[in-house]
Amino acid sequence: MSAQRILVVGGVAGGASFAARARRQSENAEIILFERGPHVSFANCGLPYYVGEVITDEANLLMATPQRFRDLFRIDVRTRHEVTAIDREAREIEVVDLESGRRFRERYDELLLAPGAAPVRPPFPGIDLPGIFTLRTIPDSRKIREWIDERGARRAVVVGAGFIGLEMAENLARRGLEVTLIELQPQVLPPLDAEMAWYVQHELQHHGVRVVLGDGVGGFAERNGELEIVTAAGHTLRTDMVILGIGVKPEATLAREAGLAIGARGGIVVDRQMRTSDPHIFAVGDAVESVDVVTGQSFPVPLAGPANRPGRRAADIVTGKGGAFRGTQGTAVCGVFDMTAALTGANEKTLVQAGIPFAKTWLHPRDHAKYYPGAETMHMKVLYDPASGKLLGAQAVGKAGVERRIDVIATALQLGGTVYDLEEAELCYAPQYGSAKDAVNFAGMISANTLRGEGPVAHWDELTPDAVLIDVRDEDEFSLGHVPGARNIPLASLRERAHELPADRPVYVYCQVGQRGYYAARMLELNGIHSRNLSGGYETRQALAASGRLPEPVA
Ligand code: FAD
Repeated sequence: MSAQRILVVGGVAGGASFAARARRQSENAEIILFERGPHVSFANCGLPYYVGEVITDEANLLMATPQRFRDLFRIDVRTRHEVTAIDREAREIEVVDLESGRRFRERYDELLLAPGAAPVRPPFPGIDLPGIFTLRTIPDSRKIREWIDERGARRAVVVGAGFIGLEMAENLARRGLEVTLIELQPQVLPPLDAEMAWYVQHELQHHGVRVVLGDGVGGFAERNGELEIVTAAGHTLRTDMVILGIGVKPEATLAREAGLAIGARGGIVVDRQMRTSDPHIFAVGDAVESVDVVTGQSFPVPLAGPANRPGRRAADIVTGKGGAFRGTQGTAVCGVFDMTAALTGANEKTLVQAGIPFAKTWLHPRDHAKYYPGAETMHMKVLYDPASGKLLGAQAVGKAGVERRIDVIATALQLGGTVYDLEEAELCYAPQYGSAKDAVNFAGMISANTLRGEGPVAHWDELTPDAVLIDVRDEDEFSLGHVPGARNIPLASLRERAHELPADRPVYVYCQVGQRGYYAARMLELNGIHSRNLSGGYETRQALAASGRLPEPVA
């Protein structure tokens, strides 16, 4: 019997993971990998930091070379080879050698597609002017570096405030450029909810990045050696260069032309075994739509983890070991100057759109024990099922410890965990790393208390005009800023002054971050006075107000 012939299209995250794993599962298979670009297995995630000169040696971006694939895994890697068509009937692909122009066909038993996603480049007037860049490959990053160095660029406009846009804004600013970030949505980092993204926006502005929200590019022009951007709202920006970071589009043309099923969002349709609508063709990575574990909907998820893991899984299936991919949940992290923003699962916007009922908790714990020097406040939001407490999503921003908390919650979420599991999670602790009751435990405790009716909470956007607002912070905190109409009764005197609270109007208590408000609500409850604690306290209220999420100020 002849050896199984496995062909791979695309040699970076998904394709390279697949090919290496396929070899580890089968010594007999013949594996040939075709990559259109000059490199395989390069670190696209490192590219913004190469532009920013944090990574100084380009060679460090190469995780493996074609030679290494040959030596280590006996995989025939052909760079600068583009696969141009799939003949499903004959089980052959058409390939063009981009160096020589030679065209040829290769037969396969099983085919893996990992062609990734291409940066979106809308047909704006002037889009092809020199100085307008996208970033996907090492040559792209080299061109950006050369432009900055050779032209002495001093100003940059980054279009799009997603992960790549923010990383580029930071790295260009780090190189001393004056950076303007322009985003169509009314917030930066759209995968976060607006009040969480507000902290990121603040961090950008604090580091001198000009942030323009709710406006987009109308077109580009070149005037006197400068690039001119006219925005949709009619403003003009002048700059030396532009980075487009307005998203990516699955590279599904090859699959579409071969008649494979394509999803509503433009990605290749695959099942849980990463099999396309053709049983001998598999697909992974940015090019596919994967099932979201929270909403059950299929989306392209252009992240490295969701390309690598199904790559391994597909290799197991192709080589006969079986298995299935668990799906994706969008766990992601982004560094923005001194701040980290991370998330997992669904955000509030997505849950609303999907019609999934949810409850939410905001909290602002410290990353490690308050008494140990250097403790930083984190801002966290946890979303969960109001009946079962099952985790639906979490977001966190802050200067330390953010990604660890989101990783813990991401693991719990993937395993179907609840806020009760977070409450009980046993996590490592020493004062410089965390607290005996960790931020994750707090998130679970507050949420579980709410579900058990032991700590009734309300949210700032639920307040009715007849609400009585009691600010239980100390007088000096109150005097520094408070919600209009709130009365100050510090927690320490609340027990004695409880008789001042009206019995015929809903009473809400709040403090700075929600903890003293919880103590106040519990104490009142046990004394027969029903009140509700405003989740996340004054800190959350300010973030909601600043991000435009508070409908009406309280009277
Ligand atoms: P890719 O890694 O894009 O590889 C696809 C390859 O297929 C390409 O090299 C392409 O040339 C080749 N190809 C396409 N069509 C053909 C064809 N017809 N024939 C031959 N070859 C073909 N994700 C994170 O999780 N964290 C991060 O911090 C992060 N940072 C990023 C920063 C940047 C600048 C970029 C661009 C991406 C970043 N990502 C990050 C996303 C992550 O890199 C991708 O999700 C991941 O690389 C997708 O893997 P893939 O194998 O699907 O596609």
